[in-house]
Amino acid sequence: MAEMILVVGGAGYIGSHTVLALRERGRRVLVLDDLSEGHRAALLGAPLARADVLDLEQVRSVFQWHRIGAVMHFAARCYVGESVTHPGRYYRANVLGTLNLLECMREAGVKRFVFSSTCATYGEPESMPIVETMPQRPVNPYGETKLVCERMMRDFARAHGLDSVALRYFNAAGADPGGRLGEDHEPETHLIPLVLQAAQGRRPHLTVFGNDYPTRDGTCIRDYIHVTDLAEAHVLALEAMEQGRAGGFQFFNLGNQSGTSVLEVIHAAEKVTGRKVPYVVGARRAGDPPVLVGSSAKIQEQLGWRPRFGSIEEIVGTAWRWHAAHPGGYQDRQTS
Ligand code: UDP
Repeated sequence: MAEMILVVGGAGYIGSHTVLALRERGRRVLVLDDLSEGHRAALLGAPLARADVLDLEQVRSVFQWHRIGAVMHFAARCYVGESVTHPGRYYRANVLGTLNLLECMREAGVKRFVFSSTCATYGEPESMPIVETMPQRPVNPYGETKLVCERMMRDFARAHGLDSVALRYFNAAGADPGGRLGEDHEPETHLIPLVLQAAQGRRPHLTVFGNDYPTRDGTCIRDYIHVTDLAEAHVLALEAMEQGRAGGFQFFNLGNQSGTSVLEVIHAAEKVTGRKVPYVVGARRAGDPPVLVGSSAKIQEQLGWRPRFGSIEEIVGTAWRWHAAHPGGYQDRQTS
């Protein structure tokens, strides 16, 4: 039997798209998820070990009972605002969860780890696009916790020869172009799903968080990257480790290298849906840098990654397809 790839948080948004990408390559996958935020329906039949990554004994028994060849870790808290008001939740979930996995990997002799990191580890660099050589100075607990995880990965690589790759995402967006998976958070805080819900009339309006930023239209600029392109990057990172092309601790940005403002996202959604997106302008959201755009030159060069979805219309288009077909999301919360 081939070794399994353990996908922790594989029932969540980015995790489930990566599980699909791995299975489409014929890889054996085992999802570790407690379904507290993720969706059973998003597994598309992939095997599940229902366990809490924060419970060391539960994680250890998954490693004891299965032949795991590599781990991909997506299970984390990811809201900047909440991390400021409840830092303990973030240190516990993000740092302890990653530590449990690394410890179990060390015990079981599993040597390959791919980690969901974030552009929030950079904080607010003075120039854009952000490249990997810029200093990491997070400005919120969310970014701090992810940076601590990267440090642990570096140290486990040095001490135990545990190879790892941190992928520092910009703004994950869109949905499986085949319409099988989408984005369904409760509560939803991310811009594109909220814009689409406003277009559907499921929200009275979207609130634009500030239009007095020093940007071309006054609204925040972000680098939106398609979730399927992110998933592909995880597969490439794993293959690079397996083929000996990536060893020790490696790190890569994952963005589209182009910035889109909040108003531009709204206009793209109006074009894609053919509907008006009602919105009001509200106050700035605490902790939002005006512009975050990333260079992905390093991963393109070293791992041969190529994003398939370059334009915001394409990205929003795939998200719309899923939202239009699933107006209530996965609707599996009661059963999970
Ligand atoms: N945003 C907004 N209204 C909302 C949600 C988000 O104007 O209801 C803005 C937010 O200020 C940021 C951008 O949309 O500039 C993307 O926010 P999101 O929460 O999707 O991702 P983040 O950048 O926080 O990871």
